[in-house]
Amino acid sequence: MIPPMTILITAGPTCEAIDPVRFLTNKSSGKMGYAIAKSAADQGHRVILISGPTNLNVPDLVDYIPVESTQEMYDAVEHWIKKADIAIFAAAVADYQPANISEQKIKKDAETITLKLVKTPDILGSAKQKFGYQGVLIGFAAETENLEMNAREKLKRKGCDLIVANDVSRKDIGFNTNQNEILLISADYIERPPKASKQHLSHIILEHAVDLAAPRDMD
Ligand code: C5P
Repeated sequence: MIPPMTILITAGPTCEAIDPVRFLTNKSSGKMGYAIAKSAADQGHRVILISGPTNLNVPDLVDYIPVESTQEMYDAVEHWIKKADIAIFAAAVADYQPANISEQKIKKDAETITLKLVKTPDILGSAKQKFGYQGVLIGFAAETENLEMNAREKLKRKGCDLIVANDVSRKDIGFNTNQNEILLISADYIERPPKASKQHLSHIILEHAVDLAAPRDMD
């Protein structure tokens, strides 16, 4: 019997405002993160789901914290991660945000306009390095090439215990589909479960997360 843990999950896209009615975002549906949240709640864990806007129903018995921008997601993670034993970052966070948000709707007077973008804060990279988080840290790597090499590099650079990598150049898996094919990469192992539904893979990801957390609880 697995003891109930507190699991923080980020999911969905982030939305970066340009003006009061426009924003930059991406194609993430949130399905993978919500599937993990559902599996974890079904197993009796306490789940804190920090999510950008999606069309999905929030799973029962989940503490749901809706956010829009990367900065809002960053602030929510910084606040809640102290309570977590496991943190799973499945959100597709924007890499850049507008340098300034126009207070008024931008008029279409000019023939061309330039949007200046600045980097968003790295939430996953801040977990251990800035927030002092000491639990199990799991990141996602959505890649279009050199999947394994890029995932290994991300594992080290972001201080993760596990990276869940998938190839987003394939149309049959990943963004906005119900199926996924993933690689699980830790410092000690690499596993390649067969292609399956996101709900099924969420159980596998959770099993790995709980296994990684278990030895620490016996200290
Ligand atoms: O570096 P890259 O964006 O590919 O890393 C992907 C992983 O990092 C995902 O787990 C994603 O949720 C997380 N991430 C984050 N904050 C960012 C960018 C990515 O938490 N600003």
